[in-house]
Amino acid sequence: MKSLERRAYFDHLTGLANRGHFFEQCENTLSKARTEKTSLAVLMMDVDHFKGVNDAYGHKTGDLVLQKLAEMSLSTLRKDDIIARIGGEEFAVLLPATDQDEAIRVAQRLRARIEEGGVLSIDGHKISFTVSLGVSYCKHDDCSTVNELLNAADDALYQAKAAGRNCVFSQ
Ligand code: GH3
Ligand code: MG
Ligand code: MG
Repeated sequence: MKSLERRAYFDHLTGLANRGHFFEQCENTLSKARTEKTSLAVLMMDVDHFKGVNDAYGHKTGDLVLQKLAEMSLSTLRKDDIIARIGGEEFAVLLPATDQDEAIRVAQRLRARIEEGGVLSIDGHKISFTVSLGVSYCKHDDCSTVNELLNAADDALYQAKAAGRNCVFSQ
C-alpha cells in the first residue's frame, strides 16, 4: 500500500484504523450481520484523565501512552476484532459475531490489561494509566444504523466515566 493510501485509512501515531475506515468496516459488518443473522458489538474506550498525563509528563510521553495502549489492545483482542483510533485519546472496537456477554468480557479484559500495563515516560518514570469503556450490542434484526450503535456505546462510556472511571458499562 502506498503511503498516501495508508494515510487515508490508518492513524499515523498508532498505526490503527482511522475514524473513516472504522465507520466503513462497521457498515460492512452490519450488513453482513443482517444477511448472516449474527450479532455484533461495539466498544468505545477513552483514556482516563489523559490531560493529566500530558500536563505531568509532556505531550511526547502522552503520545507514548497512546502507542502503548494500541499495542496492548491489539495483543488482547481476538483476530477478527477491529480497533480504531477515532479521536485524540478515544478508541473504538468492532466485535463481529459477538453477543453482549462476550463483548463485556472482551471490554473487561482490555480494561484489566491496560491497568496492569503502563509505559516508561521520556525521562524514565513508570506511568500507569487506565481506560473507561462503553459497550453496545445489537442482534441482526434489531440493528438500525451504525450511528445508533456507536451513540449507544458512547452513552455507556459516559456512564462509566460518571461512575468513577477504570470500569466498563453496557448499554
Ligand atoms: P476523562 O477521564 O474525562 O476522559 O479526562 P481526560 O483528561 O482524558 O479528557 P479531556 O478531554 O479533558 O482531555 C483529553 C486530552 O487529550 C486533551 C488533549 O490535549 C489530549 N490529546 C488529544 N490528542 C492527543 C495526542 O495525539 N497526543 C497527546 N499527547 N495528547 C492528546
Ligand atoms: Mg479521556
Ligand atoms: Mg476523550
